Amino acid sequence: MARDPISPLTVFWELASGRVLCASQNTISVLRKECYPPPEETPEAFKSALLEWRQQYLMIAKNPKEACKDMPFDIICDWAVSFFYLTPIIDLVYLRDLHERLVQARYKVIDFASLCALKNKGLMSCGCKTYLHRAFCVHCCADAFRKGILTQFPSDPEELKGRGQGAVMKSNPNGKSGAKRKANNKPAGSGSYTD
Ligand SMILES: [Zn+2]
Repeated sequence: MARDPISPLTVFWELASGRVLCASQNTISVLRKECYPPPEETPEAFKSALLEWRQQYLMIAKNPKEACKDMPFDIICDWAVSFFYLTPIIDLVYLRDLHERLVQARYKVIDFASLCALKNKGLMSCGCKTYLHRAFCVHCCADAFRKGILTQFPSDPEELKGRGQGAVMKSNPNGKSGAKRKANNKPAGSGSYTD
């Protein structure tokens, strides 16, 4: 699946911290359009243009006040969503819920024990607006395929009809959503892989 050298599956950079930086779909699309000859003919030129953009994004992220001082507002907004950081999900309750959701949605996914064994190389959360809205996004999905956590999309989308939306956060018995859950009362990031 990752044979295309400029596939979204290959535009990820693993960082020493365990986080992953990935190019947005829009960044890849715009670069594809700007590339001449087409990137399929010159994948190396595409990759080097992408690396230049990544370098510029990192420079802006490091010192936004200085880097953006002469930039039009809409360009700043474009840069802000040009790359996304993925962060390892280490809260085991959250992780179990997401794993269950993927199984219920009929993705082919590795078993939960194997997922936990991956520690901070497993499923990730993302800072994009789709993730914030749905608790899953194309970046996390592509990352999970890249790592072999997901190996197949739902084989029969018809099976999903009428199943309703998935939800990672559970409501408490009083019906108040988003409350801290009994199994892990620690803030995200302080969970462990030992239970
Ligand atoms: Zn995302």
